Amino acid sequence: MRKKIVAGNWKMNTLPAEGAELAKTICEHVKTLSQEEKYKIILGVPFTHIDRVVKAVDLKFVKVSAQDCAMYDSGAYTGEVSAKMIKSINCEYAIIGHSERRQYFGDSDEVIAKKLEMCYTNDLSPILCCGEKLEERENNSHFEVVEKQILNALSNVDAGKMQKTIIAYEPVWAIGTGKTASPEQAQEMHEFIRKILAKKYGQEIANDTSILYGGSVNSKNAQQLFDCKDIDGGLVGGASLKPNEFIAIINAIRK
Ligand code: PEP
Repeated sequence: MRKKIVAGNWKMNTLPAEGAELAKTICEHVKTLSQEEKYKIILGVPFTHIDRVVKAVDLKFVKVSAQDCAMYDSGAYTGEVSAKMIKSINCEYAIIGHSERRQYFGDSDEVIAKKLEMCYTNDLSPILCCGEKLEERENNSHFEVVEKQILNALSNVDAGKMQKTIIAYEPVWAIGTGKTASPEQAQEMHEFIRKILAKKYGQEIANDTSILYGGSVNSKNAQQLFDCKDIDGGLVGGASLKPNEFIAIINAIRK
């Protein structure tokens, strides 16, 4: 059964000690919630924070994610961090293909496919991001763009690996801009993504895949977005750094 998920993406913010405090606050709240429900809270933290955050939270209640991983296994790749290193410190997820990685660091669909492979090999669950730019929505190519991103990234991903994968639809024009996709725009794209998955993997796997919306999610718009039938939660940037905001978003997923 697919899970409702709220994942935070702290990006390059906070120092490790501040991050550990923030994570502890979130975890204390999650502990008070009913654990019967099918939801999951994930914190996407900088590499330097993973170890501290893992130790600061109870992993039964809050999971930890990296924000990327290397496309190589190991070796002479100065500055890179491998999926194996991430997994070795009890981190279970990695955000792959975030639009900021695509835009500023040249992560192509091919690179993203390799990073996904590293995640599966090392038993990390990837949160695979996709989403169109403003001009692509304006010229009506957004469905085509997202379909291409997904099919290219998943070209070597079989059904077993797909079951470990979370998708995040994040229209680039909505990330960090304060402009959110309307619930109708988001739902329409999520339904389309689920159809792509159904065609490739069958309806059962498509129905079981959590598809998150990302792009200026906050405590005011979360509920309307999460109420849509194909939106299984959110990938939250800015608002995940504000404990009260993030807690309100977590509460919205449970209503
Ligand atoms: C993100 O970083 O994935 C994101 C959606 O950011 P924000 O919520 O700040 O738009």
